[in-house]
Amino acid sequence: MSHSDICIAGAGLIGLSLALELHHRGISVTVLDRGTPLSESSTAAAGMLAAADPDNPPQLRPISDLSIQLYPAFLDRIHSLSGQRVALQTHTTLQALPLHVTNAGNILTPQDLAHLLPSLTPGDHRFILLNENSLDPRQLAPALLAAVRATSIDLRLNTTIHSVESHAGSVTIQTSNGPLEASQFVDCTGCWAATAPPSAVVPRKGQMLSVTLPPELLLRLVVRTPSIYIVPRTIDPAVTPAIIGATVEDAGFDKTVHASAIAHLRSQASALIPSLSTAPERETWAGLRPTTPDRLPLLGTFPNQPHHYFATGHYRNGILLAPATAHVTAQLLLGETPSVDLSAFSPSRLVSLAQ
Ligand SMILES: Cc1cc2nc3c(=O)[nH]c(=O)nc-3n(C[C@H](O)[C@H](O)[C@H](O)COP(=O)(O)OP(=O)(O)OC[C@H]3O[C@@H](n4cnc5c(N)ncnc54)[C@H](O)[C@@H]3O)c2cc1C
Repeated sequence: MSHSDICIAGAGLIGLSLALELHHRGISVTVLDRGTPLSESSTAAAGMLAAADPDNPPQLRPISDLSIQLYPAFLDRIHSLSGQRVALQTHTTLQALPLHVTNAGNILTPQDLAHLLPSLTPGDHRFILLNENSLDPRQLAPALLAAVRATSIDLRLNTTIHSVESHAGSVTIQTSNGPLEASQFVDCTGCWAATAPPSAVVPRKGQMLSVTLPPELLLRLVVRTPSIYIVPRTIDPAVTPAIIGATVEDAGFDKTVHASAIAHLRSQASALIPSLSTAPERETWAGLRPTTPDRLPLLGTFPNQPHHYFATGHYRNGILLAPATAHVTAQLLLGETPSVDLSAFSPSRLVSLAQ
């Protein structure tokens, strides 16, 4: 039976970011994935670092702000290990307010909007401007993987975790390639939550499309309403794609793309920016967001399973929260006080689901 200090299940953005953080702190890490790394939710995402989205649960704000603060160092570390620099694609978001928000300051005037985005059709929406970045998860993924591969992190693919047994000072992990022993284990298996109680984390499907923007549409910011977002990829001046997303569906683990859903997304986007109705389609896809009943992540341990941690359930904000999740989970694993209060994310809150 091989042994490592810490065994991580799941080579998505959360698992690999944590592996990199632990490796940086001198810990020996093994990462197991049942398939290929970064091929699930982490590369289906739009890539908004939407810390100030008014639709987020308010308990997310401190850990979101921490993540925003940690992002430059996270990208620098990836760059120094991989040689690949992940660029920020946008720096501002035009955010439409949900109907129940009545007291937000700084609502943009029609003149402000005409100046920012002349082609916008605001309709009944009221907009504010957020200082918010986005990046391309499909640029982040290969850079992160190259960074991990430049270290001594033991990344084992095609290895499925079946179960984990906690002992006094260690865990035994049963995998499709035999048992493994580690001092501590972290479940980062996204919506599969391989070792969590049933229903603690479930998939929530998101369908998306990307289009090539017409050259006359100079879209350099994200446009987001409670039901749709348009996220341009701006760093290649020759061609500007934009992501239009996303559905939010309870469809189990189904990732089928439906033409009707894609057409609905496009018509919602075109209602905001009419020239999107004829923008050539590039690609369509669907991904599965790891979702808990209260839309908050699962960070920490369940009672009576002291060496068995979870870092999953990031729902719509896993790209945003990856650096902070890696940081605070490493702190928990090493017995340090986390930089932000994690009580809202404690698996204990879901303990009734386990009974
Ligand atoms: C359409 C869509 C749009 C999104 N947009 C954004 C956005 O704009 N901004 C943002 O911050 N977030 C966004 N998200 C959310 C974000 O993508 C997720 O929260 C995040 O990627 C979750 O990462 P993860 O590493 O936990 O999961 P995943 O990337 O799904 O990785 C889980 C890994 O676990 C592995 N695994 C599963 N079961 C087992 C097992 N039994 N044994 C071993 N390995 C296993 C899988 O193979 C996989 O590699 C979006 C998500 C979707 C679907």
